Amino acid sequence: MAIDKEKIKLHVRGILEALGEDPDREGLSETPDRVARMYEEVFEGIGYTNDEIAEMFSKTFEAPVKRSKNDIVLIKDIEAFSYCEHHMALMYDMKISVAYIPKDRVIGLSKIVRIADMVTKRLQLQERIGSDIADVMMKATGSEDVAVIIEAKHSCLTARGIKNRASSTLTTTYRGLFDTDAETRDRLIAMLK
Ligand SMILES: [Zn+2]
Repeated sequence: MAIDKEKIKLHVRGILEALGEDPDREGLSETPDRVARMYEEVFEGIGYTNDEIAEMFSKTFEAPVKRSKNDIVLIKDIEAFSYCEHHMALMYDMKISVAYIPKDRVIGLSKIVRIADMVTKRLQLQERIGSDIADVMMKATGSEDVAVIIEAKHSCLTARGIKNRASSTLTTTYRGLFDTDAETRDRLIAMLK
């Protein structure tokens, strides 16, 4: 389903009024339209299911070697941002690391970046970004062994309330061997250092 930009414009105008602003003053008159166009871009991923994202980025290549516990592929520190679903506030300084053990097929590294990008373009929770990426990676590569480590700052924590500006949140999502095999997980943690 396409994003309804006209409806967003109408409601952003209503929020400006509710804030006590004059939505027709010079600086704000184009704001509802700008917000609507920004939302169309930053929430693109809402329009696609994990299955559809996996389908989009599932171009894979035959793995050069048979699966072995030594074959961790890790792409480290993908830069991203997202919006928390509790406050519609920015999650920023986000670094996403994605690891998997190829089964029969390997996926292009740029595709992993595109998957992370699409999944973060939703109203999200940091934990669910991890499980969504793991889910899409498992579907796109056929591997059961996927790990996602995310570090991010949440502006709903750093810019309001307790205002702990330095605090960042770290989450891990382990699937397959990363979950069940301590040795595999330890090797990943050593690679991340
Ligand atoms: Zn929040």
